[in-house]
Amino acid sequence: MILKGKTAVVTGSNSGIGLGVAEELARAGADLVINSFTDRAEDHALAADIAARHGVTVRYIAADMSKGDDCRRLIEQAGACDILVNNAGIQHVAPIEGFPVAKWDAIIAINLSSAFHTTAVALPMMRAAGWGRVVNIASAHGLTASPFKSAYVAAKHGIVGVTKVTALECAGQGITANAICPGYVLTPLVEAQIPDQMKTHGMDRETVIREVMLERQPSRQFATVEQIGGTAVYLCSDAAAQVTGTTISVDGGWTAL
Ligand code: NAD
Repeated sequence: MILKGKTAVVTGSNSGIGLGVAEELARAGADLVINSFTDRAEDHALAADIAARHGVTVRYIAADMSKGDDCRRLIEQAGACDILVNNAGIQHVAPIEGFPVAKWDAIIAINLSSAFHTTAVALPMMRAAGWGRVVNIASAHGLTASPFKSAYVAAKHGIVGVTKVTALECAGQGITANAICPGYVLTPLVEAQIPDQMKTHGMDRETVIREVMLERQPSRQFATVEQIGGTAVYLCSDAAAQVTGTTISVDGGWTAL
């Protein structure tokens, strides 16, 4: 229970990687604030379920990470934030000349600007406590590019930059900031792409996963949400106290190519 007594706020955590990270932080003893913009009964039930299974306190706070004021209110309402995981993210795929402007704006707001807003409110809390961890969920696309993902690649490169600046501004204060760069992780975001890819390529599910989706991931295996969560727990541990301003790839070798 290395995180007992710490409070973690995980943005976009009613699904996928955010939920996996929240689960692993709770398993390590952290109290949690989980978030999405949906505010459904099942979001509150999910908080109660995590709390019951791990014996920690879990609150669900609705906030729309596309809105700066909501991002700031989320951290204020949390009241404590020892660990901040900026995870909320969306994707849209289109060539630059046809990329919808509204999608560009939404991706930059949710995948990048939200972390600026939450971090701005969380850092004074961390400084007051003399301890803090900022864990930004970037992507292999924070380090490399793919065609048709201009907004996503720009936002993910941007968050790697913000991570470095956060680390420098907090150096020597007991606060670290790092970015996890996952390759493909089988989450609802990725699962939703499979039927289209099967149609486009005329392939069955297994072939499309192996030959198309994981084509750039040399292991040809998805990373799991538990592995991303475990990496976040490591970054919150004492062993990682001098790990700051860097990226950790969990990508089956993608960025080694
Ligand atoms: P997901 O769709 O399963 O989860 C996205 C989460 O973000 C959900 O909890 C959703 O509620 C939340 N969210 C979306 N818009 C929001 C908003 N406006 N306000 C608040 N919450 C919002 O996707 P995922 O695959 O788990 O992605 C999570 C993060 O991991 C994203 O930043 C994504 O870019 C990153 N990532 C994913 C993969 C992958 O292969 N799945 C790889 C690299 C990086």
